[in-house]
Amino acid sequence: MPIRLNETAVVNPTYVPAESESNPVSSESASKPSLRVLTPAEIAHNAAAAGPDVDAQGIPTKRGALAADPPLAPTEEFLAELKRDSDSLESATPQEVLKWAVDRFAPKFTMATAFGPEGMTIIHMLATIAPETPIFNLETGYQFQETLDLREKVKERYGMEVQYKYPDTTVEEFETLHGGPLYKTDPNRCCFERKLRVLHRAASGWHAWASAIRRDQSEDRAKAPIVGWDKKFQLVKISPLANWTKKDVWSLISKESIPYNPLHDQGYPSIGCQACTRPVQIGEDERAGRWSGFQKTECGLHTSD
Ligand code: SF4
Repeated sequence: MPIRLNETAVVNPTYVPAESESNPVSSESASKPSLRVLTPAEIAHNAAAAGPDVDAQGIPTKRGALAADPPLAPTEEFLAELKRDSDSLESATPQEVLKWAVDRFAPKFTMATAFGPEGMTIIHMLATIAPETPIFNLETGYQFQETLDLREKVKERYGMEVQYKYPDTTVEEFETLHGGPLYKTDPNRCCFERKLRVLHRAASGWHAWASAIRRDQSEDRAKAPIVGWDKKFQLVKISPLANWTKKDVWSLISKESIPYNPLHDQGYPSIGCQACTRPVQIGEDERAGRWSGFQKTECGLHTSD
């Protein structure tokens, strides 16, 4: 059944709760209205952000650091330099890595966040190291209200304003165009249109960005260097938490009272769009609740293809 904006819950159509899965908090959360319609101003902003030099899929033909002023290209020499930097930062703390990144790349240094615990940890560190760092969130229109609320908490706690980056269409337009919610039938394409394309545009013009990935999160992420060239987005990718564990992240969150998504206390270790996220059961992988029922574990942001 198509989503009714601003009135109906978004539930994962492929997810059938087990008998034993009667978590009252999750049920309550799943029935909460949390979608909103993008305003005409936001849509106009998207169109302007896209610019004229895009390919047939709406991705900038010259992107990432190649589109920056001045441009930064992955020459052999530069890649060798990044490798040396990465090796030398292997035993550095995340704060030291971030300080290095800011010294090396600001003001062409940015960060994308989905407000996960790792992202909130980096935001907390940046608030001390370089609070002026531009940070953005991909507002697909399908995020949980609890996730959107974190943007306000970041503003209140740190005075940092996370910018939303929007797709070209509202949820309503998008679903009309595709004859219903695309995440039900083709989540890869849905992620491409509402996340990846937007991210390609948002990443254009920067030299480097911070990523909140940890190596122990997945096989895809296990090989991530501290500093490397992001081939997909064509800029330097810095992963200060690559060597941290989930326990390290939550210890700091607890110690420093860093704001975090309350859904993590309700069985959601990994949170994406509401439509494609379910709580996980004891013993399941922490990303098992993402795109449950599909052969999909990543939205494509952190894979190298
Ligand atoms: S996570 Fe789901 S709703 Fe969000 S963009 Fe991807 S497929 Fe679409």
